[in-house]
Parts: sequence; C-alpha cells; structure tokens
Amino acid sequence: MDCNRTAKRQKAKSVKCLYRRDEKNMPGSKREVTNAKEEGVEFQFNIQPIEIIGDDEVQGVKIVKTQLGEPDQNGRRVPIPIPGSELIIEADAVIIAFGFRASPSDWFKDFNINTQNNGLVLAAEDQEYKFQTSNNKIFSGGDMVRGSDLVVTAIWEGREAAKSIIEYVS
Ligand SMILES: Cc1cc2nc3c(=O)[nH]c(=O)nc-3n(C[C@H](O)[C@H](O)[C@H](O)COP(=O)(O)OP(=O)(O)OC[C@H]3O[C@@H](n4cnc5c(N)ncnc54)[C@H](O)[C@@H]3O)c2cc1C
Repeated sequence: MDCNRTAKRQKAKSVKCLYRRDEKNMPGSKREVTNAKEEGVEFQFNIQPIEIIGDDEVQGVKIVKTQLGEPDQNGRRVPIPIPGSELIIEADAVIIAFGFRASPSDWFKDFNINTQNNGLVLAAEDQEYKFQTSNNKIFSGGDMVRGSDLVVTAIWEGREAAKSIIEYVS
C-alpha cells in the first residue's frame, strides 16, 4: 500500500495493484486499502503476475487470471491459475512489493556474524551485552534481528544496543 500511494504522490499517471486472490482474502490493513483507493490506486483482483515484459525497459506485466480454491492451512483460499487466461497489462514501471525476508550480506561470514537458518542475525537481548552478535565488536537490532517489525522497536533496540556498546568498551 505504501508503494501504491507513494507512486501516486510521485505523479504516476496510473497505478495498478495486482493481487492474486480477491479483496476479501487479501491480507493487510483494510483502512490502508480504502485510503489507497481514495488516492486513485486501481486494484485488480484474481490476477497473478507471471512475467515482466520488456528487454531494456519494462513494457508490461504478463498476468494469468486466477480462481480461488479451498482454504490453505492459514484459512485463506488458494489462488489457482486459469489456463489460457494470460494477458499483458501495459506498464512502464513495476514495483515488486511482497514478502519480508532477511538479506544477510556475504561479509557476515568473514566477520563471524552468525545468523539463524532464515538469515536473521543472532543478537539476543537476554545476554551479558544486549544485542551483541557472535562477533563481540558487532551489535545488531531491528528488523535484521527480529524480522519485520515496527520503527519503534528498531529505535528502542538501537538505543539499548548503544548502551550495551558503552558497557562493553568500558
Ligand atoms: C513497506 C513497509 C511499510 C512499513 N510501515 C511501517 C509503519 O507504518 N509503521 C512502523 O512502525 N513500521 C513500518 N514498517 C517497518 C519499519 O520500516 C521497520 O521495522 C524499520 O524500518 C526497521 O528499522 P531497521 O533500522 O531495523 O532497518 P531499516 O530501516 O531497514 O534500516 C537498515 C538500513 O541499513 C542500510 N544498509 C543495509 N546494508 C548496509 C551496508 N552493508 N552498509 C551500510 N548500510 C546498509 C539500509 O540501506 C537501511 O537504510 C514498514 C516496513 C515496510 C517495508
């Protein structure tokens, strides 16, 4: 929703949000969806993007229409692509905005910074020096430790880590 609305405010002539389920089965804040519509974002449901079209620059997004099957283990109905329903929606910019995953850097290994299997940095609050990583001289907090969270928790962990660094160097 942030990307949609920011694109609108950046004067995009037309902003389309493509989603592979229907509106009822879309996660996220209903209020933000309503606000995005108010700002002029166009929602297209039961549509799954499958390819970005264009060589040097984007010309469109190839999509396939979907129908909803039975609910999955999370209770949301599974989108099933409808064969032969592919078509191309013209676009000159595409923002891929879904999912939250850690992106650990290659240099973590060189500096002995251990991560969990999902790539999040191991830096517990509950230890002698809060938020210290497996490299004693490196501290970490926020989304790279917790996964997707809030600005306030990232700020709080940054402050706690700063206090912890002072203790460590003292
Ligand atoms: C679309 C979206 C909407 C959100 N909306 C909200 C909201 O409404 N309210 C809310 O509370 N939270 C929201 N969040 C979550 C919030 O943005 C995060 O929890 C918060 O920004 C995490 O802060 P952080 O400092 O841990 O990480 P980040 O804010 O991601 O900061 C990490 C920084 O490190 C930089 N970096 C990465 N690698 C290197 C490197 N090798 N060298 C130097 N710099 C590097 C990155 O460029 C980045 O600036 C939202 C998140 C997203 C993605």
